[in-house]
Amino acid sequence: MKLFLNPEFFLEVCMLLKLQSDIIYGPVNSRRLGRSLGINVLPGNAKVCSFDCLYCQYGRRRAISRDECGYVSFPSVSLVLSEVEKALLSIHPAVDYITFSGNGEASLHPHFKELAAGVCELRDRLAPTSRTAILSNSVSVCNHNCLEALSLLDTRIMKLDAGTDSILTNYNRPPHHISLKSITSGLTALPSVWLQSLFTSGPDGNLNPKHIEKWISCVISINPDFVQIYTLARQSPTESIFLASITKLQMIQHLLTEAGISSEVF
Ligand code: SF4
Repeated sequence: MKLFLNPEFFLEVCMLLKLQSDIIYGPVNSRRLGRSLGINVLPGNAKVCSFDCLYCQYGRRRAISRDECGYVSFPSVSLVLSEVEKALLSIHPAVDYITFSGNGEASLHPHFKELAAGVCELRDRLAPTSRTAILSNSVSVCNHNCLEALSLLDTRIMKLDAGTDSILTNYNRPPHHISLKSITSGLTALPSVWLQSLFTSGPDGNLNPKHIEKWISCVISINPDFVQIYTLARQSPTESIFLASITKLQMIQHLLTEAGISSEVF
């Protein structure tokens, strides 16, 4: 039987990153984190996220709110911790980082605080030289319980692409209105953060000079330890945004340096 693929469908599949099917993945080599063991506390092969960013390379899927998480089948705390324990016992030498990441926003897990505490306890017992981290979209800093859970980890790499409510709504596409102010206040309340910001050109991108000015003000108010500046790693999933030039990214880095904030263009 011959299989005919629609060229547009084929292009979309090629542009998408593969979702994780298991709880543990890696270790992967990361430029910032070194050898990092990934923990996916979200369902296998499905994106579960409180954003639906225009550039998301896991594919577009409606963002979900914390209230809707009752319908999601998350792995249990005991299963996640037993998988992490098995991985830490079998990996030598110890990894540099044990990182909550995976198929969307890890802190949407309803027992994320127990997971963070459990992983820290396993790290202390089995891999004391490793550090714990999360890659997060920052929405959960508006939730007090999540703020406490995030504070347990050693390193928090938090998304901040928007300097205005309008870019937050149209670029990151949360499921309902979330104010940028509530996110920046939550980020400021954390013990320390690295920010991760992805810039794109195009009519729906976030590189407009007026927007960059507002984004810089937000970054200054948060006072992060470090800012990672990115653009797309591969072709854009939509025609209304495209790769930012290295010159534009370096200009943003220059503005951050002038404001006394360390950053790197990735
Ligand atoms: S936060 Fe990450 S996983 Fe979620 S939609 Fe944005 S890019 Fe995709």
